[in-house]
Amino acid sequence: MAERVIPLIDQRLAALGARLPAGAVPATGLLADTLGRPLRDLRISVTDRCNFRCSYCMPKEVFDKNYPYLPHAALLTFEEIARVARQFIAHGVRKIRLTGGEPLLRKNIEALIEQLAVLKTVDGAPLDLTLTTNGSLLARKAKSLKAAGLQRVTVSLDGLDDAVFRQMNDVDFPVAEVLEGIQAAKDAGLGPIKINMVVKRGTNEHEILPMARHFKGSGTVLRFIEYMDVGATNGWRMDEVLPSAEVVKLVGAELPLVQLEPSAAGETAERWGYADANGQHDAAAGEIGVISSVTQAFCGDCNRARLSTEGQVYLCLFANRGHDLRSLVRGGATDEELASAIGHIWQGRADRYSQLRSSMPADSGSAMRRVEMSYIGG
Ligand code: SAM
Ligand code: SF4
Ligand code: SF4
Repeated sequence: MAERVIPLIDQRLAALGARLPAGAVPATGLLADTLGRPLRDLRISVTDRCNFRCSYCMPKEVFDKNYPYLPHAALLTFEEIARVARQFIAHGVRKIRLTGGEPLLRKNIEALIEQLAVLKTVDGAPLDLTLTTNGSLLARKAKSLKAAGLQRVTVSLDGLDDAVFRQMNDVDFPVAEVLEGIQAAKDAGLGPIKINMVVKRGTNEHEILPMARHFKGSGTVLRFIEYMDVGATNGWRMDEVLPSAEVVKLVGAELPLVQLEPSAAGETAERWGYADANGQHDAAAGEIGVISSVTQAFCGDCNRARLSTEGQVYLCLFANRGHDLRSLVRGGATDEELASAIGHIWQGRADRYSQLRSSMPADSGSAMRRVEMSYIGG
């Protein structure tokens, strides 16, 4: 087949044209990138909008009423998302996470979940289908999400103290409503629920212990995430990162911890279980996780691709270029052609930003062009 380059229209950052490779890349489920990493995990951003303005993600000064959010016609439709997802699954994806922006703001998201929930992996197993949310709409939506086929949710929550939480979401949203959302998700059967807490030194580190105490023994896994230098607008500084090792030390000093085995290859969180009086893991007390994206790179196992709201594939959270699939989808490409394009893109992947970060000069200016997290999802 001759190489065909699809012209590009309407991109956030100049994307790379998705090329139809000269030879087909059939979907065998055995795809590997240039570093031998398989493709297993797909994160799909369903909207670039959010009702929160967390300063580490969508600072108010940048994401104001003049911010050029994507027009509706630019978004992939649910049918387009499901079609692209099927080709990713054919290449070996086993887990799909819906994200954003705030995914529950996308109108009738349940209809997309229904389409994805019926898909099977290449081994014939049900797809692991989950969603990350700020929890603000969860109390209202938990039942309908479950009914549509969603299996689990991850809820972001940066503190229990109402004043701290309102300051971090920067729209004065009360913590009680997110806690209600978490309870509603549990009641609806959307568990085991994970809670993601981004830790910013000097802002919410004093919330670490109250959060650990609150979720210990609740069946909910609390995960502490190092504040990352994603995007180009959050004014990230290394001195605001609290290394995970310090989080583990802080929690362990009051609530003794033992390290647990990783649950799966490519798992981003290091697991620590609450210990019993004999120093053994007390399963009833549960566990915490730490995600050390800054201090301990896990690129070697990274098996994640990200699909932006307008259909660009990003091979790394820190990439500054996506590969445009929407023009293929809307340009009449067949499923085989779409699968070939995805395979070709993954085969060329060499990204390992976190591993390289430590060797970059601090003033390299690499943040200038990076895509925003609210656009490609966390
Ligand atoms: N709005 C949803 C939410 O907040 O859960 C989903 C999208 S949000 C971009 C996904 C995850 O990225 C959240 O858990 C959020 O805390 C995390 N995140 C955003 N900016 C971050 C940063 N600079 N460092 C670390 N995590 C970040
Ligand atoms: Fe919105 Fe989530 Fe970003 Fe906060 S982290 S601004 S809730 S997209
Ligand atoms: Fe994966 Fe990029 Fe993060 Fe490394 S920096 S773990 S390649 S997303």
